Amino acid sequence: MKSKKNSEIKKISKIVKFEELNWKQIQEMDNKKTIFYLIISPLEEHGPHLPIGTDLFTARDVIFEATKKLNKIKPELTYVILPSIPIGSCKFNTDFPGSISVNSKIVRDVVYSFGSSLAQHGFQYIVISTFHMAIAHLKGIYSAMNKLQTKYDMKVCEPWGPFFYNDEIKKREPKLGFDTKREIHAGFRETSLMKYQYPYLVDESYKKLQSIYRNLESPRIVGKKFKQLGLKEGYVGSPSKANADYGRWFFNEIVNVYVNSTIALYQNKKISKLPKNIKFIMKTLFWE
Ligand SMILES: [Zn+2]
Repeated sequence: MKSKKNSEIKKISKIVKFEELNWKQIQEMDNKKTIFYLIISPLEEHGPHLPIGTDLFTARDVIFEATKKLNKIKPELTYVILPSIPIGSCKFNTDFPGSISVNSKIVRDVVYSFGSSLAQHGFQYIVISTFHMAIAHLKGIYSAMNKLQTKYDMKVCEPWGPFFYNDEIKKREPKLGFDTKREIHAGFRETSLMKYQYPYLVDESYKKLQSIYRNLESPRIVGKKFKQLGLKEGYVGSPSKANADYGRWFFNEIVNVYVNSTIALYQNKKISKLPKNIKFIMKTLFWE
């Protein structure tokens, strides 16, 4: 049988799952008009009430939504979603079953391998989606990003870290009457998100969980695990206050961050960066 001409290769849609393509289709893509989404977050305990996939679900679902919006705003681009990678550094709560911690050096190598393999075939744009904000985890991602930028001149960004660490959520969120900045892990914010996205995965016991707060950025806690810090149930914050309305607002806010960052990346415009203090901690932190 005569081989198909390039023009006859099945035209792919503008939002695609990478693993469903064949190499011919990938070769046909316009390097300069294709944006890749690399989704990466660890499986990690999220209190007695939320699934261990909480961060991974959020990092993935906001990309599904963001690419739908982007397809309307910039239909000339192709959006390729890579399969979600369930790894990340979360050593501090591995004293609970369900937390799988992967050293951030491996996170770095995985992100770099994906990026460099794509760069070798001329692709230029990668948006990294992670909802896990542990600095050790971000250290892996950011060092891979730097290497991809210097070695291949790739345009890479990780939008959520800068938004989160510059306290943009607090500046934008509806008035609630309590400080959501203390909702660090599986607390009000994340429980609300899951109540909106996956209500059937939220255990009803969340309503009875007492508020518990810790400053996990304090130098005194370095190297300690959750139970040593008195976090016996594995959450930090007030899950009992959760509601799906806030979850919906928060989810859409995250989606918009990815929409705006993708456009900025493509148009070579300024992208917000991590604050200096976070970059400093990242530098001084050990790989773990
Ligand atoms: Zn989380």
